[in-house]
Amino acid sequence: MIAVLKPNTTEKQLESLTAWLKAQNLDVHISKGHFQTVIGLIGDVAKVDADLLESLEMVESVKRISEPFKSANRKFHPDDTVVDLGSTSVGGSAFAIMAGPCSIESEEQLTDIAEKVKASGATVLRGGAFKPRTSPYDFQGLKNEGIELLLKAKKATGLPVVTEIMSPSHLDMFNDVDILQVGARNMQNFELLKELGKTKKPILLKRGLSATIKEFLMSAEYIMAGGNTNVILCERGIRSYDTYTRNVLDLSAVPVLYELTHLPVIVDPSHATGVARLVRPMALAAAACGAHGLMIEVHNDPINALCDGAQSLTPEQFDRVVKDVKKVIEVTR
Ligand code: PEP
Ligand code: MN
Repeated sequence: MIAVLKPNTTEKQLESLTAWLKAQNLDVHISKGHFQTVIGLIGDVAKVDADLLESLEMVESVKRISEPFKSANRKFHPDDTVVDLGSTSVGGSAFAIMAGPCSIESEEQLTDIAEKVKASGATVLRGGAFKPRTSPYDFQGLKNEGIELLLKAKKATGLPVVTEIMSPSHLDMFNDVDILQVGARNMQNFELLKELGKTKKPILLKRGLSATIKEFLMSAEYIMAGGNTNVILCERGIRSYDTYTRNVLDLSAVPVLYELTHLPVIVDPSHATGVARLVRPMALAAAACGAHGLMIEVHNDPINALCDGAQSLTPEQFDRVVKDVKKVIEVTR
């Protein structure tokens, strides 16, 4: 349920209304937007007398939210959420470019790629340390050592970093990581989501391989229900019957999510297509349809990459993509 307040509501009125609602065992989420203040009520709202609430002097209207996702709902929070990363941000009018190798392989590999993607305009450095591989016999990542190399590259370049977390028991290793990624395969690992909800860390939540948009938003809700509202959604393609591309990039999810949620939405054309030459056209399309950013895999030696070489761009190809994406942004926003 949400209560939209009248524009001239004073702080004192807001405080007394909040206290009254909390006394009814409800959690209250206040969103002060450009034009309106919206109070979101969470908890057992069935017992709330909506007519009484609407009759109060400072209340303009009361609406029940029928969708099962509440905190992630745009009705609850009309303005875009902007996730602050210190030197940069994700969401709102900012356009984030996250780039780097699928897996961190060595210090030389990561430093070289990090410097090059930064020079091309990347705003966040990516690199996998814990890799969720389909086969247990494939390279599983450098784990803790990979995180240390990523933090070294962060220090050297000044770029915030994103890397995947697969287990809540690893949280201590991620203290200095700026964004914790939840991979597609873990989108419904609810115990992991609940633990991440207890932190204040920005979370990059990737859409599950066969997740509906509603399931995707319910996973975001798991994180937000714990109090962590710093969630970034990532469309990375879904399973379908066609095997020509690795996945099917559901670009319509971008404007649909924009309507449904205030959370930023970025697109990963690398995992969506699995083919390096398809990354540029889909990155341009993602920028054109309103994405708040991109995540792109870049490798300095794709042929010899330990993971996802076929979909990795060289730093030179990445440079061209960034230049073209910026042109699309210029003419579309
Ligand atoms: C990744 O970004 O490294 C990754 C494994 O992606 P996804 O979870 O989307 O497959
Ligand atoms: Mn990958």
